[in-house]
Amino acid sequence: MYNVKSPKAEEFIDDAEIRETLAYAEKNKSNRPLIESIIEKATLCKGLSHREAAVLLDCDIPDLVDRIFRLAEEIKQRFYGNRIVMFAPLYLSNYCVNGCIYCPYHAKNRHIPRKKLTQEEIRNEVIALQDMGHKRLAIELGEHPVQNPIEYVLESIKTIYSIHHRNGDIRRVNVNIAATSVENYRKLKDAGIGTYILFQETYNKANYEHLHPTGPKSDYAYHTEAMDRARAGGIDDMGIGVLFGLTGYRYDFVGLMMHAEHMEAALGVGPHTISVPRIRPADDINPEEFADAVPDDKFLHIVAVIRCAVPYTGMIISTRESQKVRERVLDLGISQISGASRTSVGGYTEEERDEETAQFDLADKRTLDEVVNWLMNLGYIPSFCTACYRAGRTGERFMKICKSGKIQDCCTPNAILTLKEYLLDYATPATREVGEKIIAREVEKIENEKLRAALSEDLAKLEKGERDLRF
Ligand code: SF4
Ligand code: SF4
Repeated sequence: MYNVKSPKAEEFIDDAEIRETLAYAEKNKSNRPLIESIIEKATLCKGLSHREAAVLLDCDIPDLVDRIFRLAEEIKQRFYGNRIVMFAPLYLSNYCVNGCIYCPYHAKNRHIPRKKLTQEEIRNEVIALQDMGHKRLAIELGEHPVQNPIEYVLESIKTIYSIHHRNGDIRRVNVNIAATSVENYRKLKDAGIGTYILFQETYNKANYEHLHPTGPKSDYAYHTEAMDRARAGGIDDMGIGVLFGLTGYRYDFVGLMMHAEHMEAALGVGPHTISVPRIRPADDINPEEFADAVPDDKFLHIVAVIRCAVPYTGMIISTRESQKVRERVLDLGISQISGASRTSVGGYTEEERDEETAQFDLADKRTLDEVVNWLMNLGYIPSFCTACYRAGRTGERFMKICKSGKIQDCCTPNAILTLKEYLLDYATPATREVGEKIIAREVEKIENEKLRAALSEDLAKLEKGERDLRF
């Protein structure tokens, strides 16, 4: 029985409710008055229910689909302006005891080299990342109680935060580790993590069990209830996502929306971020074997409807996607992207990229400087900001500011300051030239005189050598 507040996975992600929602959406996919009324509601930026969102996703009336896309662009602009937050993944270990059949790290893959970084190797990876200009990382590792215990994760986080190479530092470590206990979540919170990220992969229980035949991750309820335990452990910035292509996208889309509703209703805080990865080729993985692979046009539609349904939630896209797709989804709602990623363990310090240990093949292999330059040429401000979490603007407090639309008063000046740092310390001359023009233009656009003056003062301080200034 569906119950949004229930702590039980099978009640807050109720299969019957998803199926009824899908039938309702199918029945109403050409219902112009209903779709128009949902679009109208979405313009208020207060969010949509999973049923309403499902109807927008199924909508097959071309002019209304266009309106949904345009609304997504408007909401994106209203909540996030033109800043795009940059991050990089850092793979610590590919030892894993699970049997996920879509991931090359699955325990039965005997030919992929297994590797776990020592603290010294982490140090070198982090220096390489700092030397590119990164300030925000997402650490990734397989589930392995012996090789990757929580102590290893905690020690690694400590190492990462302790490194200050030249003007570099990593100011926010987001963590993507397997579902764990309340006690371990508390330890992660105490270690000062940013967002705890865990993808559901698929919300379809039967298919989930088929895709995860062995290992602790095969327990659907334990995995699906992870965010509830994370919250109980004191974590209040949580990121969710599915791996589109594992199950029919409609089912997973509705599950994702229901999970967001559950977090808001039962945990008091909606998802901080939603990620939208699609299945990619990798060692031992052929996406063609997954019949539910999502085509580009539907993928864009998914991003647009998520933007309309949960306007206050950051959306992340990785280098799984090509430059072309990334360009379009930036307009439609994406607020965070990775740049110059290596998805192999130790990938940032290897002369030749070690594709063999990669979790997935990259579709976008540009350098960070190239990505920054590209974003600026598209009219965006690449941002290396990590201010909120460090100023205690997390969880409910963050959501309140975000829902009121006021977060932009912080995001824009912080984007400008961190871009300036990047230009001073890491950019190529060509990127610096483009960046300085963007900064001058963006400062001019700030209407609040006091804010503009304070920002100009801080920019001058950065020129003189100060670092890490923020609003
Ligand atoms: S998806 Fe995660 S848990 Fe599954 S095999 Fe890959 S690394 Fe292990
Ligand atoms: S001010 Fe807060 S919400 Fe805005 S980019 Fe920085 S950390 Fe993110």
